[in-house]
Amino acid sequence: MRFRDTLSGEVKEFTPIAEGRVNIFVCGPTVYDYIQLGNARTFVFFDMFVKYLRAIGYEVFYLQNITDLDDKTLTRAKEEKKEWDEVSNFYYKAYLDDCKSLDIDSVSHHARATLYLEEIKSQILRLIKLGYAYASSDGVYFDTSKFRDYGKLSKQNLDQIIMGARVEIRASKKNPQDFVLWKLADDKPNWNSPWGSGRPGWHIEDTAITEHFFGPEYDVHGGGTDLIFPHHEAEIAQMRSISGSKFLSKYWIHGAFLNFKGEKMSKSTGNVVKVRDLVKSSPGSAVRYFLLNSNYSSEMLYTDEVFQSSVEGWKRLQKAFSIANSFHKCTEECRIEKDSADIIAFMDDDLKTREIIASLHDIASEIFKGKVAEKQMITYVHKFRFANKFLGIFSEQATNLGQIMGPLLQVRKELREMGLYKESDMIRSKLKDAGIVIEDKSGETTWSIGG
Ligand code: AMP
Repeated sequence: MRFRDTLSGEVKEFTPIAEGRVNIFVCGPTVYDYIQLGNARTFVFFDMFVKYLRAIGYEVFYLQNITDLDDKTLTRAKEEKKEWDEVSNFYYKAYLDDCKSLDIDSVSHHARATLYLEEIKSQILRLIKLGYAYASSDGVYFDTSKFRDYGKLSKQNLDQIIMGARVEIRASKKNPQDFVLWKLADDKPNWNSPWGSGRPGWHIEDTAITEHFFGPEYDVHGGGTDLIFPHHEAEIAQMRSISGSKFLSKYWIHGAFLNFKGEKMSKSTGNVVKVRDLVKSSPGSAVRYFLLNSNYSSEMLYTDEVFQSSVEGWKRLQKAFSIANSFHKCTEECRIEKDSADIIAFMDDDLKTREIIASLHDIASEIFKGKVAEKQMITYVHKFRFANKFLGIFSEQATNLGQIMGPLLQVRKELREMGLYKESDMIRSKLKDAGIVIEDKSGETTWSIGG
């Protein structure tokens, strides 16, 4: 399998550190507000990626941090006249609910940053001891001049980084581009430390968490492109300075932005469509379809019109899947991967979900022509099912219905053969009330959702 690795800037062959096992870390949300569709783009993509790795046989540990304390948490707590942890508990739970609505369920462990204070302090102590960090009047800083590779991930030289850092020059820093590891703070919440009471910096929480779970190196680090600099650059500097390793993460994957009204969708600017609002009117699987119908490295745009037209595309595939599913003859043991070589090939060539969806639409066109032989139809079912293992774009409802519609249509057929048309019509009409349409054509009966 190959995908785009940010550090090398190349589409690279994937070979995990330990054969058959993948340790992946993805930056989770800062829980001071509901997640928006841009966040969902990143989280759905990595959910899909991990599910694919599992579908092709890897054992995957998917770790995600939760930033449960940030200046924005404190501002929100003040606004809402609540304690900071009431705010983060509330939005953390809301995040989990939103993930559920989008069928994001592949994360092995969510690690809340404030539960890792000892690990954070231990990293800062080691960085100071090794000469990579220094205590100053308002906190502890990482000395970027000591880390030669600073800027490599974001492809910037020192001058560019310094230019970018000028806005927040502080006398307490040795170099303008140095970043904070520990912020001294008298106000709550704060924790004791050898450098005085305070709070951790943002970047150090992630390396403290990943070192705790994975050690100094792991396979894949992911997030949106906004995190490349300074966040991920800082993570590399911190962990590699401690470990002396050649890398922190062997591969870096960054998902491109979802844009809205001419800029990146962002909760901090309020330019958002909240996931919980969108799933009120459209199923989570339709939202996944929309987000995965663009490849991860291309920016995409949300407008109500674009989304509604995407829902029409989703309905089309849903209908084709429902028809194909009524031919489903195979039990869980049957090797659906065998019939899905083209889908695997798209995934293995830089995770091309858009091309997979296009190929499923081609199949849908064949199905709607109505002349697909049964053997071919079963191959199609296998493709749909395999793709759905990681795309998650067909609703569970349709998948489960596939198991019961076959026997139900058989009962209806037998009723008709016995001349019990009133009873067989009642089945048709009750199904129609439930949104399932039956069609009798050339001696065959097919069903679909929504007609
Ligand atoms: P945050 O809660 O802002 O730290 O973001 C959580 C995750 O969502 C990070 O990986 C971000 O890179 C990602 N993210 C935020 N906004 C967008 C967007 N508009 N498009 C894609 N990913 C985003």
